[in-house]
Amino acid sequence: MSQDYYELLGVNRTASADDIKKAFRKLAMQHHPDRNRDDKNAERKFKEINHAYDILKDPDKRAAYDRYGPAAFEGGAPGGPGGFQGQGFDFGSVFGDIFDEMFGANRGRPGGPRADMRGQDLRFNLEITLEQAYAGTEATVRVPSSVTCESCHGAGAEPGSKPHQCQTCHGRGRLRAQQGFFTVERTCHACHGVGQVIDKPCRACAGQGRVRRDKTLKVNIPAGVEDGTRIRLSGEGEAGTRGGPAGDLYVFLSVRRNPLFEREGADIHCRVPISMVQATLGSSIDVPTLDGKMARINIPAGAQGGHQFRLRGKGMPVVRSTQHGDMYIEITVETPTNLTGRQKELLKEFEKAGKTSPESEGFFSKVKEMFGG
Ligand SMILES: [Zn+2]
Ligand SMILES: [Zn+2]
Repeated sequence: MSQDYYELLGVNRTASADDIKKAFRKLAMQHHPDRNRDDKNAERKFKEINHAYDILKDPDKRAAYDRYGPAAFEGGAPGGPGGFQGQGFDFGSVFGDIFDEMFGANRGRPGGPRADMRGQDLRFNLEITLEQAYAGTEATVRVPSSVTCESCHGAGAEPGSKPHQCQTCHGRGRLRAQQGFFTVERTCHACHGVGQVIDKPCRACAGQGRVRRDKTLKVNIPAGVEDGTRIRLSGEGEAGTRGGPAGDLYVFLSVRRNPLFEREGADIHCRVPISMVQATLGSSIDVPTLDGKMARINIPAGAQGGHQFRLRGKGMPVVRSTQHGDMYIEITVETPTNLTGRQKELLKEFEKAGKTSPESEGFFSKVKEMFGG
């Protein structure tokens, strides 16, 4: 082990802790014994990079290595001569923090077998209307899931029989092998890390301890929820195996687009078309609001398109508060189409009777100024 540790990991001496970790992960994946069975070279390489990483990930050890080179660590096994006193290299801990992360949880961990595995979290997508988001609602969802097997009560063994301790690993779920002064730990192949073996699997669940079944749940949706809200129902995910805790259920809410109302935070926007005559002479109109009622708006004579009216407190409720947003009504003024001959005549006459367009008069007088007409 006199090779340069930085070289082994393919990083330079100024590499950050993060870069070193990344380089190590990549190499460790590549040379992992589970992927290179019976390959002595890979195994040796794997041990070397583990050793190098073990030193370089630790700022104190790295500093010592930078100063003294590998001599600082050679013979550094527990009880060995020289090196770092008491700093034994236990690959079990490397497996623990790196490989559980890399290959997913629920591998047997050092420190005890896990026959009981936590059930998976479930995701359920639920679409609600804007009106439901406004008022809050209780939704009934049907989730494909699994529940604890009633026949074996989650144990996985046929009623009347019992799982027994794995003979290969004596219930530890892991096997240790001494190689030189390194201890290498692996998941037990006989029980897959569970530590127990079932002779007679339960027929109802094939030894899984859980069976597939749809679940019907009521989900309380608070008033004012927003698109993308995630509601967590603790313990309502999949059942664990062999009596392990259940996962959680996450309900992902999406709020359907409404053809009339557009939401912006707690405010609601709504565009209402009115006729040219209504805008010109003024009128009152009734507009729908999200509470299912109508609100009356008085449009003053001469109102222009784009004018906004604010209905205070008629917007969305703010979740877990008594506040409400506002509702904004924007009017658009429609240009009449499909006129009869009579209507056209009336409009021409109307035009002749005098100037009535404040904005366009201002606009054309500016054009005149610019071009000196
Ligand atoms: Zn069962
Ligand atoms: Zn075993």
